[in-house]
Amino acid sequence: MSNWRKDHLGASSSEPLPVIIIGNGPSGICLSYLLSGYTPYVRPDAVHPHPLLQRKLSEAPGVSIMDQDLDYLSEGLEGRCQSPVALLFDTLLRPDTDFGGSVESILTWRQQKERAIPHLVLGRNPPGGAWHSIEGSMVTLSQGEWMGLPDLQVKDWMCKKRRGLRNSRATAGDIAHYYRDYVIRKGLSHNFVSSATVTAVEWGTPEPSSPGARDPSPLFQVSGFVAAEDQSQQPFSLRAHNVVLATGTSDSPARLGVPGEGLPFVHHDLSALEAATRAGTVSPSSDPVLIIGAGLSAADAVLYARHYGVPVIHAFRRPVDDPGLVFNQLPKMLYPEYHKVHQMMRERSILSPSPYEGYRSLPEHQLLLLKEDRQAVFRDPQGLQKVFGVALVLLLIGSHPDLSFLPGAGADLAVDPDQPLSAKRNPVDVDPFTYQSIHQEGLYAMGPLAGDNFVRFVQGGALAVASSLLRKEARKPP
Ligand SMILES: Cc1cc2nc3c(=O)[nH]c(=O)nc-3n(C[C@H](O)[C@H](O)[C@H](O)COP(=O)(O)OP(=O)(O)OC[C@H]3O[C@@H](n4cnc5c(N)ncnc54)[C@H](O)[C@@H]3O)c2cc1C
Repeated sequence: MSNWRKDHLGASSSEPLPVIIIGNGPSGICLSYLLSGYTPYVRPDAVHPHPLLQRKLSEAPGVSIMDQDLDYLSEGLEGRCQSPVALLFDTLLRPDTDFGGSVESILTWRQQKERAIPHLVLGRNPPGGAWHSIEGSMVTLSQGEWMGLPDLQVKDWMCKKRRGLRNSRATAGDIAHYYRDYVIRKGLSHNFVSSATVTAVEWGTPEPSSPGARDPSPLFQVSGFVAAEDQSQQPFSLRAHNVVLATGTSDSPARLGVPGEGLPFVHHDLSALEAATRAGTVSPSSDPVLIIGAGLSAADAVLYARHYGVPVIHAFRRPVDDPGLVFNQLPKMLYPEYHKVHQMMRERSILSPSPYEGYRSLPEHQLLLLKEDRQAVFRDPQGLQKVFGVALVLLLIGSHPDLSFLPGAGADLAVDPDQPLSAKRNPVDVDPFTYQSIHQEGLYAMGPLAGDNFVRFVQGGALAVASSLLRKEARKPP
């Protein structure tokens, strides 16, 4: 750990930091890159294929994108994301990717140390966030090039590592490695503290402003602990003028709320299946693994179990042909493995005449109860009860953001404070061009927390936050 970080984490730290980022996934890494003085400019010879955007960009030659009006530049852009700044940054980095093209980024990056803003990135995992918790052999849903961060293409990195993309997609293990390497290559390591868990963020009302002072903002107190290799915990307490929430949404798995959900053979993430396979608790000759859910995580678990020959019972509430199922929204050519699972869900259903040995699906089945003797009790579509003996249960039905370290678990920050916080339905309410909370000055949220769900799009949030923080720094009296 660098001395700089030790000073800040040590009990003696008294100077508040300008910025603390909580979460070290792609969002936190990208923001750290921008706050380290890396500044995007349009290459003088570049022409963006979007004529209106090209015209706007040519109005301010030589001015960094971070210093331009993001609202003006992004106006009129359309794409697979709601956030205008996410669409803007994505189209600058990958100009025609949605049309299957491969026009290079029109940006060039200059490191301007005088623009750097000191910051710390705190995260439970190594840099790369959720990607260190995803089973390494899983192939990403997105194309490999969409998983990359600014100024280091995944395909170039893979080439240097003598690795290859599979059908233009990467494995989760390669992507986790790429993010960790990115932090090192871009010289960002001194900003990162891994194995750090934030347990509380508090703030008071701002002091009445002294004469001449502008924008009184509260001081945030960020506390938590750093876990050492021997599992001991070193507490820390830091102060900061701004806090960025980049904690993602994978840490708090959704629960069904059925009796027996807390039993030791019931789990809520795929890693339990990996551990059980390694330990031999589940095997081709064991009772089946029960996988509940009809999303991609459940499909990943089915693929994993099938790979090791472990028998599977796969149960879900919806009918197989429900248009809302994610499989019905994925192009078949690009995702053959997920379509295979969907086909099995359809053809190997317990409702169809020829259940397939080793895999059986239970569409429209509701789990009622899990018993200590590893019996799972279901209600079928006709209302009848069915009982299955299982070796292990995986409930993979999504996850929620966990902001329990904030006052009131962050409920007041959501778009609709009366509903639970949700990446898809009820994200943190932020200004679309700064990503600062509408409700709390100095508090920012980005990534899935702010409704940007793909790595490709979380980077626009980083651009918006960095540009807002740079403006705040510029307003400070000398
Ligand atoms: C199985 C799976 C497959 C996916 N596939 C794709 C894909 O193919 N393409 C794609 O673009 N996206 C994919 N995603 C989504 C992608 O993971 C997210 O969009 C992306 O990782 C979000 O980045 P982030 O930095 O905002 O959050 P994360 O990557 O979730 O990182 C946040 C980090 O913050 C840490 N953290 C949380 N709370 C605290 C705390 N209190 N203290 C310290 N640290 C904390 C978390 O442990 C986590 O490590 C997938 C997600 C999953 C779960």
